[in-house]
Amino acid sequence: MDARRIACLDAMGIPAWTRRLDRRLPGAPEPLQDVEAPEAEADPAEIPIAALDWSSLAETVSGCLRCPLHAGRTRTVFGVGSHQADWLIVGEAPGAEEDRRGEPFVGRAGRLLDGMLAALGYARNGVYIANVVKCRPPENRDPRPDEAQACAPYLDRQIALLEPRIILAVGRVAAQRLLGTDSPVGRLRGRVHRYGAGGIPLVVTWHPAYLLRRPEAKAEAWRDLVLAAAAARQGATEAMSP
Ligand code: URA
Ligand code: SF4
Repeated sequence: MDARRIACLDAMGIPAWTRRLDRRLPGAPEPLQDVEAPEAEADPAEIPIAALDWSSLAETVSGCLRCPLHAGRTRTVFGVGSHQADWLIVGEAPGAEEDRRGEPFVGRAGRLLDGMLAALGYARNGVYIANVVKCRPPENRDPRPDEAQACAPYLDRQIALLEPRIILAVGRVAAQRLLGTDSPVGRLRGRVHRYGAGGIPLVVTWHPAYLLRRPEAKAEAWRDLVLAAAAARQGATEAMSP
């Protein structure tokens, strides 16, 4: 990377980060993909969540009873998109439309999210989209911390399988769950955080449902997306250099 680019990223507050294969911190546990593959005939219910592949993970989620949210769902909303995606978008929970269709972000907020991703050059099927909880909370209330914790191993496994170059946490619930903080979005957005032992770059932005209520915040959200794109590109460049 040339000096001008480094200075430019520096000015945007993007810390340097290590290559895909080398980004574990010293002393961090081996990455999950090194876990031995389960026997083909093994029952997914008996395999630790952290060792499941995409299809057995989805199957496990579809029958999950780990938290009270299971009682109100029509169907689980696992996640959608490309398993090769560089971008992971994390929202909070399925709403009514998502619960009916089994797909995240298909309502009004989802259309706004699609529009913002399109403006960056990404189609919906070129990213991966998931939520903190996979079942719809009653009356669309926010998921409670205990529900987010119960569902956490599924999202964590999705992240480990995907190895995204960038995580975009949309809204308070996703940001607080992934960063283990209770700071508000306004204090977390606008800079690059790190997720997990691998230090995956993570950018926080406003939830699209909030942007529908406060369109004047869209300019900030756009700046967050541009920052996320720069962080993802920086990772890609470094992964290619020797
Ligand atoms: N809002 C979210 O956070 N996730 C969805 O899937 C839909 C709306
Ligand atoms: Fe299971 Fe998550 Fe649904 Fe709770 S929200 S029942 S943990 S899938």
